[in-house]
Amino acid sequence: MIDKINKLLSDIEEVKATNLQELEDLRIKFLSKKGAISVLMDDFRNVAAEEKKVLGMRLNELKNKAQDKINELKENLENSNSTEETIDLTRTAYPVQLGSRHPLSLVKKEICDIFKRLGFSIAEGPEIEDDWHVFSSLNFADDHPARDMQDTFFIARSPEVVLRTHTSSVQTRVMEKQEPPIRIICPGRVYRNEAISYRAHCFFHQVEALYIDKNVSFADLKQVLLFFAKEMFGADTKIRLRPSYFPFTEPSAEMDISCNICGGKGCPFCKHTGWVEILGCGMVDPNVLENCGIDSKVYTGYALGMGIERITNLKYRVKDLRMFSENDVRFLKQFENAQ
Ligand SMILES: [Zn+2]
Repeated sequence: MIDKINKLLSDIEEVKATNLQELEDLRIKFLSKKGAISVLMDDFRNVAAEEKKVLGMRLNELKNKAQDKINELKENLENSNSTEETIDLTRTAYPVQLGSRHPLSLVKKEICDIFKRLGFSIAEGPEIEDDWHVFSSLNFADDHPARDMQDTFFIARSPEVVLRTHTSSVQTRVMEKQEPPIRIICPGRVYRNEAISYRAHCFFHQVEALYIDKNVSFADLKQVLLFFAKEMFGADTKIRLRPSYFPFTEPSAEMDISCNICGGKGCPFCKHTGWVEILGCGMVDPNVLENCGIDSKVYTGYALGMGIERITNLKYRVKDLRMFSENDVRFLKQFENAQ
């Protein structure tokens, strides 16, 4: 019997009630006429006389404890409202999973910020374009390969509607509408009909800059290019320009920077030349200015353009271009702490 009493004593220590019904159930279980304690009381009559004193004291103790516990629980229930009970204000917060900026967005922002400091403002345009804004106004010859289905996604043939192959179409649209001085930077997605591999994709991203005003010269362009290269890749970066050809600029050039991996000494990344190509540029062809209604005898200008993927590869050494569009969280998570 003493074991039963001890068991009930420890059970009573543990009991909890979150509402009045549970409390009533507990009362019935322990204190009602058919409850556990009453059953023990009945058994008590049959206990040997010499054990009665000790057992009687324990039994009373049990009864009082049960009554006290029920009273205590009742008081608690009355004093607290149920809402407070279900919210634990001391619990630590759930860890919130934060996303990260996409590496291409990080680099795009960095490029745009550098040009914004030079007074350039951002211009945007449609990704679905007509032939005029993508090719004709930009001095592309009728038989230029870019006009071929091999290189360009055509949506319609007559009149021609294409997915823009470069962000230069944004420049055309701004030049048509705005009087010089024009100082814009055009970031955006472009499309080319290429087989997808680690080094080519059917869509990628460009940033182009355009400056048109009176007396803009190639020296102004070089100055901006050098400033950009040093801001983007570090103060020790050197640049060099190689003559090139684009339909919409004359003269045209491609710019290399001193390899930011080996510092110009030569490594596998720069194919041991010490230089890596990063962008194309040139003076806006007078034909382009005239096509957009700008007097090429009064105004001159320069344009430059680069692939954001290319710059991102240089900064973060991403070896496979496809990783940018696969949205693999393990890849993206690596840029969590990038600014
Ligand atoms: Zn190198």
